[in-house]
Amino acid sequence: MKEFEELFYRDTYAKEFDAKVISSIKGEKGWEVILDDTAFYPEGGGQEADHGTLKMMSGNDVNVTDVRRNKTGEIVHYCDGGLKEGDTVHGSIDWDRRFDHMQNHSGEHIVSGIIHEHYGYENVGFHMGDMIMIDVSGPLSWKQLAEVEKEANETIYADLPILVSYPDDKELAQITYRSKKELTGQVRIVNVPGRDICACCGTHDAKTGEIGIIKFFSMINYKGGVRIWMASGLKALGIISRRTDQDIELSHMLASDTDHIVDALKKVKDESAAKDRRITELVNSRFELEAGLLPDKAPLVIRFEEGLSTVETRRFCECLLENDKGICVAVLSRQNKSWYYVIGSRTVDVRPAGKALNAKLQGRGGGSAEMIQGTFAAGQSEIENVLKEELNV
Ligand SMILES: [Zn+2]
Repeated sequence: MKEFEELFYRDTYAKEFDAKVISSIKGEKGWEVILDDTAFYPEGGGQEADHGTLKMMSGNDVNVTDVRRNKTGEIVHYCDGGLKEGDTVHGSIDWDRRFDHMQNHSGEHIVSGIIHEHYGYENVGFHMGDMIMIDVSGPLSWKQLAEVEKEANETIYADLPILVSYPDDKELAQITYRSKKELTGQVRIVNVPGRDICACCGTHDAKTGEIGIIKFFSMINYKGGVRIWMASGLKALGIISRRTDQDIELSHMLASDTDHIVDALKKVKDESAAKDRRITELVNSRFELEAGLLPDKAPLVIRFEEGLSTVETRRFCECLLENDKGICVAVLSRQNKSWYYVIGSRTVDVRPAGKALNAKLQGRGGGSAEMIQGTFAAGQSEIENVLKEELNV
């Protein structure tokens, strides 16, 4: 069978069909079945393969899990069981999956056509997965994309026909159409009148109204252009529904209505930042109070602490040095199985001692002459003894 003569091209809406088994061979990816005709679309043009079943005369089904066109142009159905050559089988395609592909593929055409018309940019990459991903060759803002989205949805409401044609070379020369690659042989043109003309081998809806909705979900700047994530039809509705559920849950958590989640979250973040500032003040005053209880100018001050953050550990060490409590000050805070340390001095270079300490206490870390920090993987009493040795007390 020649390309473009298969059932999925003759009738994009064929969900069931009968066909004869030409061959059925066990391959690496399961059984490879070739039929004399098929409604199963093989992966290609950015569109994923159809899935479904083939029912044998005996009444048993095999599942079709992938469909590809081989090098000689035949369509290979990858199945979880073998079929008998010469038998007639009844094929059923997973229509929900196929219709999703048609809605999303058709939506992608409209979006790419509108962007091409207004900005002259090309669709340079296209992938259909959980969402449609399109790489566009030039820069666009989120605001510009919102305008494209509106126009794309207006194209849906206009319920335009999506026309397929097979022009000969002479006719083709008269048509300006989008194409991702240089084409040879028969070209299949997909035309959304006034919106897009594109060479494409995929399956599309018969009319734009069937696409239902086109929604952009996010974008990033990518290789001088933008990468857009979008979805159409039921897929878009599913994503919007999930996010709406999330909005409702968030609004309950924030005791806000769904239109003011961002404001409510900003308020929570501001309150949290104010609490953090208050905690820092209280912790600093605790350090000052504790420093006040210690004698001045001790040769070495060692403090083992529980639950201090790394920033707080450093702050306590600085506080003890600022208050002139020791020539050398070591503050350690327990972290799981190790101790985070900050060791400082106003008069002694602590780096050489740091190296020796790391070697003896399975430590790592370093810093400046005035202050070093890191971790020791040793017990408290061992650390205390080695600190006393190495800091010459
Ligand atoms: Zn297409």
